[in-house]
Amino acid sequence: MIKVGLRKKIAQRIVNGHPWIFNNEVEKVEGQVNGGETVEVFTHDKKFVGKGYINPKSQILVRLLTRDKNAEINEQFFHDQIAQCWEYRKRIGYTENCRLVFGEADSLPQLIIDKFNDYFVIQTLALGIDVWKPAIVKALNEIFKPKGIYERNDVPVRELEGLPQYKGFLSDPFDTKIIIKENGLQFYVDIENGQKTGYFLDQQDNRRAIQHIVKGAEVLGVFTYTGTFEIHAAHYGAKSVLGLDISENAVQQANRNAELNGLQNSCRFQTANAFDVLKQWVKDGRQYDVVMLDPPAFTKSRETLQKAITGYKEINLRGMKLVKPGGFLVTSSCTNLVNAELFLQIIDMAAKDARRKTRQVVFQTQSADHPVIWGMENTHYLKYLIIQVI
Ligand code: SAH
Repeated sequence: MIKVGLRKKIAQRIVNGHPWIFNNEVEKVEGQVNGGETVEVFTHDKKFVGKGYINPKSQILVRLLTRDKNAEINEQFFHDQIAQCWEYRKRIGYTENCRLVFGEADSLPQLIIDKFNDYFVIQTLALGIDVWKPAIVKALNEIFKPKGIYERNDVPVRELEGLPQYKGFLSDPFDTKIIIKENGLQFYVDIENGQKTGYFLDQQDNRRAIQHIVKGAEVLGVFTYTGTFEIHAAHYGAKSVLGLDISENAVQQANRNAELNGLQNSCRFQTANAFDVLKQWVKDGRQYDVVMLDPPAFTKSRETLQKAITGYKEINLRGMKLVKPGGFLVTSSCTNLVNAELFLQIIDMAAKDARRKTRQVVFQTQSADHPVIWGMENTHYLKYLIIQVI
């Protein structure tokens, strides 16, 4: 097996359990490397660090799969890892729909598997995990006997690994518009054409957190996608709910979801650009009891972080201004680079500019089927905040 030797002075990160090894942390690679193959990693003084997969085309040269010297990286390894992920989800109470595998946080770097009852959606975002796709599919078939498996590898990040963007069936073809249950409601999931894997499971617990504040309320939901938060609001007794999204397709799906739950009379959806509409409605003096914001990630790189901060501040400022005194703002951010502390600072700046006092009701992260590993920043990505705006 190819041996990778680390430099003497490297970040503590690797020793502390982080699975990524960057090009500039490597002293030497012994042997002729093929992208995607398994390698052994050693410290400068020849101590075993772990086994992982290598890709000379990527800035992250190696991603570790195990710290166990005796572990063999083979079909059985992936079966056992995925079985363990399933045991963990069952243990913490996420069975029907869940993120079954959350990449680095499950020691399977760059592998995402979402389970939507009997259907599975897979993303293999690095070469070294992509080559194990047949083993991963085999494991899913053995453990779950699924009705269908689909690959959503139409993700730009794969190009950094020299991989093409692609989507398609990994099982016999099936109808890719399925229905899932969540918190006693039903939602269509468009596995083939929806965003990411088709549905945002990470907000499944946070959708429940609005239960009490929306009772009898006039609710505005912005960045609604398929209307999940808004339909929860109507279900929990909101007087009226309006959801906005820039995508016509999303709005159509949101309407279908409202009908599916018999909530079409209290829930309306409209296409709109949030940045334009919120500005205008503040001018018009519109007011709501509850405003909910759940925008897409505003940046993936440090170069545009400042712009993302400005974006968050702007929508939250306008969102707050639309809240009646004593009402609530429900606001999220899934931008990795905006950490929890920074997010709270942005909200605080927005409140000062809006000349409103706020108090925190809840501040939480993604649901527990997306485990957080402290020290691996990108496993702790979702910020979900409810504040009362006084
Ligand atoms: N709340 C949703 C997820 C929202 S994803 C859920 O829980 O499922 C973010 C959504 O914002 C996407 O549907 C995207 O189409 C929409 N979006 C992006 N830019 C927008 C803009 N400028 N105005 C309105 N919607 C926008």
